This record gives sequence, C-alpha cells and structure tokens, in this order.
Amino acid sequence: MAVLNFKTLNSQYINGEWREGSSSLTIENKNPYNGEVIASYKAASLEDLDAAYKSSEVVQKQWAKTNPIIQRNVFDQAYNIIEENHEAIVDVIIDEIGGTRLKAEFEIGLVQNMLKEAASLPMRMNGSILPSPIDGKENRVYRVPVGVVGVISPFNFPFFLSMKSVAPALATGNGVVLKPHEHTPITGGTMIAKIFESAGLPKGLLNVITTEISEIGDSFVEHPIPRAISFTGSTRTGKHIGEVAGRNLKEVHLELGGNSALVVLKDADIDLAVSAAVFSRFTHQGQICMSANRLIIHEAIYDEFVEKYVSKVSTLTCGNPKDSSTIIGPLINERQVQTTVALIEKGIEEGANPIIKGNVIGNIVEPVVFTEVTPDMTIANEEFFAPVISIMKASSDEEAISIANQTPYGLSGAIHTRNVERGAELAKLMDTGMIHINDGTINDEPNVAFGGVKNSGVGRLNGEWSLDAFTTTKWISIQHEKRSYPYS
Ligand code: NAD
Repeated sequence: MAVLNFKTLNSQYINGEWREGSSSLTIENKNPYNGEVIASYKAASLEDLDAAYKSSEVVQKQWAKTNPIIQRNVFDQAYNIIEENHEAIVDVIIDEIGGTRLKAEFEIGLVQNMLKEAASLPMRMNGSILPSPIDGKENRVYRVPVGVVGVISPFNFPFFLSMKSVAPALATGNGVVLKPHEHTPITGGTMIAKIFESAGLPKGLLNVITTEISEIGDSFVEHPIPRAISFTGSTRTGKHIGEVAGRNLKEVHLELGGNSALVVLKDADIDLAVSAAVFSRFTHQGQICMSANRLIIHEAIYDEFVEKYVSKVSTLTCGNPKDSSTIIGPLINERQVQTTVALIEKGIEEGANPIIKGNVIGNIVEPVVFTEVTPDMTIANEEFFAPVISIMKASSDEEAISIANQTPYGLSGAIHTRNVERGAELAKLMDTGMIHINDGTINDEPNVAFGGVKNSGVGRLNGEWSLDAFTTTKWISIQHEKRSYPYS
C-alpha cells in the first residue's frame, strides 16, 4: 500500500470527513526543536464537538452488532498499516513531539502491542449465566459496550497514550471521540484516525477534534453522549476532569502524574541499578509519567552508586532528535522549559547540590543531577517532567521505603536487590500501583494492569482491565415458569 503522508493531517476528522474546524481560532503546530511550523489549523468549535459525538453515537449502534471477526480484522489491519508506514511515523514523532528515534521506535512498539491486544477483545466479550433464588428464572449477564467514550490524551507519548484507550474502546464495540493535546494533534489524533480509516473502520465511529480548552470549556466531558471518559494527563487537570465527570455521572478513568522512586539496597547489582536508573530518568528527556524522579540509595553503597551514575549521565548526548545518536532532545515547549528552570533554581535555593548542571539551549535542557536532596525539599515532592534527578540517601531498607512513600503520588517504582523475595516484600509496602524488582520504573505491557494510586489516578487499563473499563453489564432475566405474585 502507498505510504501515508501524516504531516498533512492538519484538520478535524468528523463523521468520516477531513475538514477545517469551524472556530475562528487558529492553532500552530510547532516542531519543539527548531520552532518550525509543521501545520496551522482551524480549531474545533462547540458545534464540531457536538457533531463528533453525534456521529460516534449513530455509527456505534451498528458497530456493536458487527461480527467480532470483522471487528478484529480492523485492528490487525491497523497493525499492518503501522508496519508499512514505520519510517513516516518515526519522522512525525521526531518532528511533532521532539522525540528521539529511540523514543519513536519504543512508542511504535507499544502501539503495535496494544493493537494486538485490542484485536483479541472482540472475541472476549464474555457474559455469564447465574443461578436464581426464584423458581424457573434464568439470569443472564451480558457484557455490553458503554456506548461512546471520550478520550483525552497528553503530549508526551500521544500516539501510544491515545491508542491505549482508543483501540480497546473501539474493540469492545464503542464509538470514540478523541481529543489530543493541542501541541500533538497529529501523533495523538489525526494519525490514528488515518490509520483506522485506512484499516476499514466504519466512517464516523472514531472522531478526532483538536482545539483549545478556551474554545470548548468543559463540554468535552459534560456533553450528554459520552458515557465514559478516559483521561491521561496531569493530576491537576485530572482532578478537574474527575469533578466534572462526577457531577455529570460519567464513568471516569484517570491516568495521572507521578513522582516515582527507584530504590537501591546495599546488596544490589550496582551497575545494573545505574543503567536502570539512567534509562528511567532520561528516556524522552524525562517526560514520562513513570520516570524515576527520585533515586533512594542505601548509604553503604551511596558513594559508589553516585560516582557510576554521574559518569554515565555525563556521556548522554543532547541535541537534534533527528540525529540517531541523540539521547536527549527538546522538551515539548518553552513553558515546560521555564517550569523546569524554576524548579532547578528552587532546588539550589533549598540546599540541594547540583553535582551535574547542564545548560539550557532553546528547548533543550541538559541533564541536572542533584545530590544531598532531603524529603522535605520541593524538588523531592514535585513531578519533574524533565531530565533532572534527585538522589537521596537512606540508612536502612525501611527508611528507603518510608522516604519513597513520602509523596502524594503513587504510580510506579523500582527496587534493586539480589534478594528478590525481600524485594517483593518491600514492594508490598510501597504505595504505588506498579513496582518492579531489578528493573527500571518505565514498564507498560498490553495485558497487565496499568495505573496508579493516590494522586496518580483512578482505575486500571490494559488487557482484561480495559475490557472492564470500556464495557458495562446488562442483566436480562427470563422467567421460564409462571411466577405467582403475593397480591395479584
Ligand atoms: P495536561 O493535564 O496539561 O493535559 C492533558 C490533556 O488534557 C490535554 O489534551 C489537554 O488539552 C486536556 N485538557 C485540559 N483541560 C481540559 C478540559 N477542561 N476538558 C478536556 N480536556 C482538557 O497534561 P500534559 O501536560 O499533556 O501531560 C503531562 C502530564 O501527564 C504529566 O503529569 C504526566 O505524568 C501525566 N501522564 C500520565 C500518564 C499515566 O499513564 N499515568 C501518562 C502520560 C502522562
């Protein structure tokens, strides 16, 4: 098949048509590395949003009745289209998000795994037959799609994080309206629409609208058609989305921010721990919800760990994400750079030691490594969405876990030890939704429950958890024997 040109997808995708948004607002989609405008597009208005939801609602009714093998084929086909357009997708991830080639390959792999999992879901729409205390009654519990799902995605891994909800929601018989982040409308939105359009998804089932929140307010969530909202983004926005969804009695799934800790005990394989810790912080320049924000190191091995860690970080290459040797590319925009710089300054002001302090060049923030960080410091408590790390010292395993838990977040984590059972016991004491022994903090597998506790979110996605997230049940009972009623 012909290679698709994703960079021209600067429009809305509503009711199976590619068209301009009807808002007067124009949004510029800029390359975060060199500031070049990739595309300018007219934002979606409230009328566009309404048309998108109505389209999904109408087409969903037919889609829910479609043979599951035909449904499955769409996801298999989408997988193949990604395979055939691999290089074009790598290019757009580099240009729109500032992701390195390594990040692009990683993200595409995650998407393809997710599509394989989604392809299995149409044949897993199982229900149950339950006994009844009433003579002659048969209870059937059917699994049914919720109807229409509204999906909101962030800027950091938009191709994957949109697909992570869009694919299972569609595969379980729903219609979807997707709203990508305004800075990643192609990778998080229209590229996905184009792939599914080419894969034979019925027109109008999936709609993509790109707009500013100033244009649509809370209508994406408040609109009466979506029965469920799947949101991935910051805790601040997630709390707001949760409130609006609650007021409108919508089911809501929230995948939010993190402040994950990687703990290194005194019996750890230090070289492995160093590699895992570097990967967990500097991949995609630290803009990953599961990134290790804090390293908590047992005092017995602290000096050796820090020396090796600093030496490895010093070798990381920063610059143009198009260059295949680059590990650290640009942050998504100037605002994120300013937030990062302010937080670095706060760390220095509060007494942390910047043992490595790189420069800021355009949107590139070179690595910053802080030692002598204490749990009360701002940098230990805020989520750094940047290549900046806080290293802390613990005098015992128990103290390490206690420090790790001193955060309102609870997404991911890691523990390094040669005693894996001890590691697993300590992992049970960590207040996180996910934790990995002798690995990094960044892991996402299509069949395993993904999600956080505390300020990191509500609900779980992937595998059977996505099946539950995007379906509901319907109890249909059949009274086979004539029933007698007490007063009629
Ligand atoms: P953000 O909260 O600023 O934006 C996320 C999305 O919400 C965007 O599409 C934005 O336009 C939209 N939004 C904002 N207000 C809205 C409203 N009223 N109605 C509808 N949509 C609205 O987040 P971000 O800066 O794009 O992403 C970074 C954050 O996301 C980090 O905190 C990161 O940890 C988190 N994140 C979490 C996960 C996870 O799986 N837990 C994954 C990736 C990113």
